[in-house]
Amino acid sequence: MLKGKVALITGSTSGIGLATAHILAEQGIDLILHGLMSEQEGAAMAEEFSVKYQINTLFDNTDLRDADAITRFINKAIASLGTIDILVNNAGIQHTENITTFPAGKWNDIIAINLSAAFHTIQQCLPGMQKNNWGRVINVASVHGLVASLQKSAYCAAKHGIVGLTKVVALESAEQGITVNAVCPGWVDTPLVNDQVAMLAEKNEVSFAQAKHKLVTNKQALPDMAEPKQIGEFILFLCSDSARSITGAALPMDGAWTAQ
Ligand code: NAD
Repeated sequence: MLKGKVALITGSTSGIGLATAHILAEQGIDLILHGLMSEQEGAAMAEEFSVKYQINTLFDNTDLRDADAITRFINKAIASLGTIDILVNNAGIQHTENITTFPAGKWNDIIAINLSAAFHTIQQCLPGMQKNNWGRVINVASVHGLVASLQKSAYCAAKHGIVGLTKVVALESAEQGITVNAVCPGWVDTPLVNDQVAMLAEKNEVSFAQAKHKLVTNKQALPDMAEPKQIGEFILFLCSDSARSITGAALPMDGAWTAQ
């Protein structure tokens, strides 16, 4: 059913986005790959995907802090591969610090990449989905779209924001065959969490592995981080016809973090 659809996954050069790219590609979905990587590396990655999965691909390294560049990127992607049927807003960054010293530049970057970029991509991708009366928008939020943690003011603001954006766009798209959902993972084993683990290891003078275990069990009932591909498989399910009634939801995949 999904073969030949076109998906854009922001931040698909690493972590959850990259794992999701492989899972969608396995279904024969054409891919717009994106992330902070050189043109040359990106072109090589896109070529690898094309050959391995026999799909059409495109790579773009637009910096999502630049709204005009996002417009140019989406226009180019649609001109090259056609309507974007599946939009996965996944790119994100983190910075942890108390509010009193939190750098304004970091705040601006986190809001731009983790929240405003999704506004721009959704705004540009929806008209094509509306025309086809079919579409899937999946925003990779976080448990931090539902609850707070210390030192994550910008991240929690952006993630709570994207959950709100998800709900509004779901309401506006409900009669157009388009579902819009937010996925809310707990800890996922990707480069994004490495700095936090390293900081904890240094502070407590313990190994990286011990710090990782402590970080996870501080918040989750399940003692392990999720693997990126688990999030990708969840995203694939949300693209399926079976999931057509799930819309406007913020769906935790968090080892019972938010159950407590
Ligand atoms: P990651 O660091 O492995 O990947 C981040 C991706 O975003 C990369 O492809 C990177 O190139 C891209 N990116 C970063 N800054 C960018 C910019 N300025 N412009 C364009 N692209 C940019 O991170 P990840 O853990 O895979 O995170 C993916 C998403 O999942 C993020 O939105 C994150 O908040 C969310 N998330 C992660 C976890 C976790 O524990 N890892 C938990 C919940 C939610």
